[in-house]
Amino acid sequence: MGGTAERGRVSPPRFAADLAALRELYRHAKHWRCPRCGCRGTFNGHGALRGLAQSGPGKDAVRGRRFLCSGRGRRPGCGRTWSVVLATVLRQFSVRTAALWRFCLELLGGLGVPAAWERARTGFSLESAYRWRRRWRQGEPARRSWLCRGRGPPPEDLAKAIVAVCGAADPLAVFQQREQRGWPGFGS
Ligand SMILES: [Zn+2]
Repeated sequence: MGGTAERGRVSPPRFAADLAALRELYRHAKHWRCPRCGCRGTFNGHGALRGLAQSGPGKDAVRGRRFLCSGRGRRPGCGRTWSVVLATVLRQFSVRTAALWRFCLELLGGLGVPAAWERARTGFSLESAYRWRRRWRQGEPARRSWLCRGRGPPPEDLAKAIVAVCGAADPLAVFQQREQRGWPGFGS
């Protein structure tokens, strides 16, 4: 974690705590060093990132902001964009962290996908819920190495272990904000 904080002084973040923090980034962007080309002072705000879905919950909601490493004029940037999303956003999914966690809690409590999906009331389709479970399973090795630091057996009660580290309110968002990486299985 210390490494992330130190790098944070010059590298752009991947996740922002909330909308206010996201807006704040505009003031800091000019100090960033581009992770792609290594240039400094080349970033400009480049508009909002909105919902992925054509329809469904949150389709128009702001998910994050895009910044451009400008190569125009005398700027030496690479012309590529960098996206920073809210900590509640799962990069490749429309569902937000809190709703996903509600669903996963039911799964971890022993329910099958249809029952867990019904209980969690996420507003997304059952097909989405099956995709979430597939990703949740794919994230298992990374989750384990995070929780056990690569040693020892996986915790007996996974939900409890996650809450112990990240709190009960919105643990997946806490993870993304703190670690500055996507929740295992749900985006880089
Ligand atoms: Zn660049």
